[in-house]
Amino acid sequence: MNNLLRNSTALCSSVCIVGKNTSYSFFDGKENPNNYVSWEAYKFINKITKRKEENVDKNVIGDLVKNNHKFYKKKLLCRGLEIKGSKKVDDKSFYIACDRIQRMLRHSSENVTKNLIKNDVGFNLIAKSEQMTDLPEHCHMKDVKGGYSGRGNMVNKCRGMRHGQNVFCGEENLIQQGLKTEYSPNIKDIFIHETSHAIMGDGVDGKTQEDINKVFKDAKSTNNLWKKPNGKNAYALSNSKEYFAELSMWLFGGHGDYANIENKIPKPGPGGLSEYDNDGFKLICDIYNGIREIPFDVSKERVYQPIVEISKSEEPDEFFSRIPSSKNGPPKNKKVTLSFQLKNKNDNSEYLVSWLNYKGEKRWGFLINKDCPKFNTSTFVGHSWLIEKKTKDGCCQVIKAFVAEDYEKGICFI
Ligand SMILES: [Zn+2]
Repeated sequence: MNNLLRNSTALCSSVCIVGKNTSYSFFDGKENPNNYVSWEAYKFINKITKRKEENVDKNVIGDLVKNNHKFYKKKLLCRGLEIKGSKKVDDKSFYIACDRIQRMLRHSSENVTKNLIKNDVGFNLIAKSEQMTDLPEHCHMKDVKGGYSGRGNMVNKCRGMRHGQNVFCGEENLIQQGLKTEYSPNIKDIFIHETSHAIMGDGVDGKTQEDINKVFKDAKSTNNLWKKPNGKNAYALSNSKEYFAELSMWLFGGHGDYANIENKIPKPGPGGLSEYDNDGFKLICDIYNGIREIPFDVSKERVYQPIVEISKSEEPDEFFSRIPSSKNGPPKNKKVTLSFQLKNKNDNSEYLVSWLNYKGEKRWGFLINKDCPKFNTSTFVGHSWLIEKKTKDGCCQVIKAFVAEDYEKGICFI
């Protein structure tokens, strides 16, 4: 009997299947609430579950709560990280997302989680009935051809993305995995892929990022891995970030873009990965299993002053001519973070922040407003960012521009 009870309590804390498949709930009172279990057995189980509860950090998996946001009405705190979604997102999706996060972070250095929290990493779920561009962070991209890069697909039907400090994922990837959807066959762990991007970008230190890059380069040039039989690259060969995200999908039991789709190589799961790309496997194992020490991110923030602000009498052309053009290449190729933040929380205006390329042309951009008050982005020292205010007729009025300085993290108040 004791063995049976131990097995049961190991699997569950509040509801147990004991004896004749009876559903059994524990209550705080001292009465034995269930006639199917002996009083002695009840006391035994209760003692174990109580002890377990005392040891649990209450913030690990919170309750699904109402959120005071115009769009994201539901929120779950998971290991201190926020998972948000509109009222259309199924409650189950939040708990599954949290379980995936837990699985990915539970053995890694505690500082990985702390860094993610410090860097405001959040998880935004997209309901099955919603499109990416229904979400406030992406609404300005609705029906925009070429998407964010100008050369890719429209954002509307995208079901997974890391955008700024946030991970976006369609809930069907969590609760209906394996069932084909109108968007995809839904067989890959998109949530794990996108979360890995956040872990690499905001959870680990620069040295670890460099080491991932080194193993990626070796896989590409020295070991000639991740090449398809037709000579094309598997997605893991895109860059070191995609390499880490794709390998993470294998490590957590799934697979990414196969090097050989016909023979399913690498085989799904960690065993297949270790056989195919052992160096990559070892490195990502050490990150996820905690062998690799990850330091706490102590990079200091500095509030930037805009490099230029438009004056009342100034024409936009004059204003643009005063913005230094973004420069590429050495010696100014150092990567830094810029955090764009709404200064006044009650400001009802909407701002478009765009990267300006070296010709002064607007490229990649994102929205800042009351509903999306913060956006962290990587950029290079010397690169310029333009702030425009949306006016009533939908057109934009240029306001000011910032230039990334040689400082780890710059705060740009709007
Ligand atoms: Zn990716």
